[in-house]
Amino acid sequence: TSLTEEALPLLTAGVSLPRYDRGAVTTGIVHIGVGNFHRSHQAMYLDTLMNDGAALDWGICGIGLQPSNAAMRDALAAQDGLYTLVIRHGDGSWDARVIGSVVEYLFAPDDPQAAIEKLADPATRIVSLTVTEGGYYLDAVTGEFNAADQAIQADLAPGAVPRTLFGLVTEALARRRARGVPAFTVLSCDNIQGNGHISARTFTAFARLRDPELADWIAGHVRFPNCMVDRITPKTTDEDRAELSRRFGIDDQWPVLCEPFTQWVLEDDFADGRPPLQDAGVQIVPDVEPYELMKLRLLNASHHALCYPGHLTGLRFVHEVTTDPLFAGFLLDYMTGEAIPTLRPVPGVDLAGYAHQLIERFSNPEVRDTVARLCANASDCIPKFLLPVIREQLAAGRPVTRSAAVVATWARYAEGTDENGEPHELDDDLAPQLRAAARRQREQPTAFLDGNRAVFGELADEPRFTRVYTAILGSLIERGVRETYADLDRFAD
Ligand code: NAD
Repeated sequence: TSLTEEALPLLTAGVSLPRYDRGAVTTGIVHIGVGNFHRSHQAMYLDTLMNDGAALDWGICGIGLQPSNAAMRDALAAQDGLYTLVIRHGDGSWDARVIGSVVEYLFAPDDPQAAIEKLADPATRIVSLTVTEGGYYLDAVTGEFNAADQAIQADLAPGAVPRTLFGLVTEALARRRARGVPAFTVLSCDNIQGNGHISARTFTAFARLRDPELADWIAGHVRFPNCMVDRITPKTTDEDRAELSRRFGIDDQWPVLCEPFTQWVLEDDFADGRPPLQDAGVQIVPDVEPYELMKLRLLNASHHALCYPGHLTGLRFVHEVTTDPLFAGFLLDYMTGEAIPTLRPVPGVDLAGYAHQLIERFSNPEVRDTVARLCANASDCIPKFLLPVIREQLAAGRPVTRSAAVVATWARYAEGTDENGEPHELDDDLAPQLRAAARRQREQPTAFLDGNRAVFGELADEPRFTRVYTAILGSLIERGVRETYADLDRFAD
């Protein structure tokens, strides 16, 4: 059955359906960047509230800015905004649920004025975002807003029809201010530490270039709460579509499949109200930073702690690595012995329990997350997720053996072949220099650290770290990953 509003009564009993009258839902949230993650996460929380008869004035209008979003426009238009969310359990079972909270979708290139007017509409009280890290136009070196970007410059030209996130949202805010309509909240749900702070900086920086008074009004009236979001949501494949049709009889052009776990930790800082998200399981907290650090140093750093030893020993799926007791034990030792001691207490969270739960999430064979995906962009990620752990552990005189092993396996991986001699590409902005440095390390054991000062900084000169690191790297080269990991404690400093 093709998924449409009309076809809902025809769907099999095993599928959960919206229990509310979608015709009565009005738009309160405009979401820019409707992709898989927005649909597995924020839109699902709203749908949960609507199923309980709440938040019916917080329906979602998606806006797509990029040419490629025409595909989302067409898929949602054909299905009255409906799509299937599939939760894949580790035992192979699927839960299918039709989500109804996305009630409108505008493709800005078709009609930029309609998108701006939607944003300017007094009923729009939250503008949420999942536009990836690149969507914020941050300068790679300074981390500040990159106003020199061509698309940004084009949007700043007098009389320009805005095309970027910043151009569109700022024009809408200018209209609201001129019309006496209150400002909305900008709610970034991207995976960036301090996503609210970054949004505040970038939106006011853009507005200041356009009109300093408008920038002051935005700084004074728009709110930019920080939030931490978590739910592993891979891309949808044709196989997924076919399997959904086979299991549930639903023909959905663009279903979303994800893991059972979901988390949203949010600061309560809204300009013009918000849905009662706490009733759908969202944690509302005064400060998300402890939760962010927990996620970055446990979940994200563990991705790197598992992908290099996994890849080097020939494993290609995440669950294959974490169901191997040698590597699961290594990850737990890293988390409990080195990462958790650097974290402040996280209200309401048992960190050791969180660590065990991560191993369980990574071990779900149904999610089919790939080791290759996790190996990518290490030079961006490792300095944010892992090196702060090493620095804090060293400063406190505590062990760094497992963290050093992560860096050493990365260095070994950067040589470009696994232990079976199979070559691989390095998917990294710094790939040439990483590879060149790694290929010198068999003669010069600290070459990878010395040759990548932009990544490692002063850690390359820290004897307590380099001693452990070079001993482990030597063992990886000589004896291989498995033998090295079998008795890592012999390298302890
Ligand atoms: P996706 O590719 O399905 O969707 C990304 C959306 O962002 C698309 O609509 C794309 O057009 C839009 N976009 C990209 N660059 C843009 C720009 N410069 N301006 C405007 N729109 C732009 O990806 P996704 O899986 O939905 O993930 C999106 C983001 O969500 C991630 O980058 C991450 O920050 C966050 N996130 C994802 C996951 C996950 O597991 N997928 C988990 C947590 C957080």
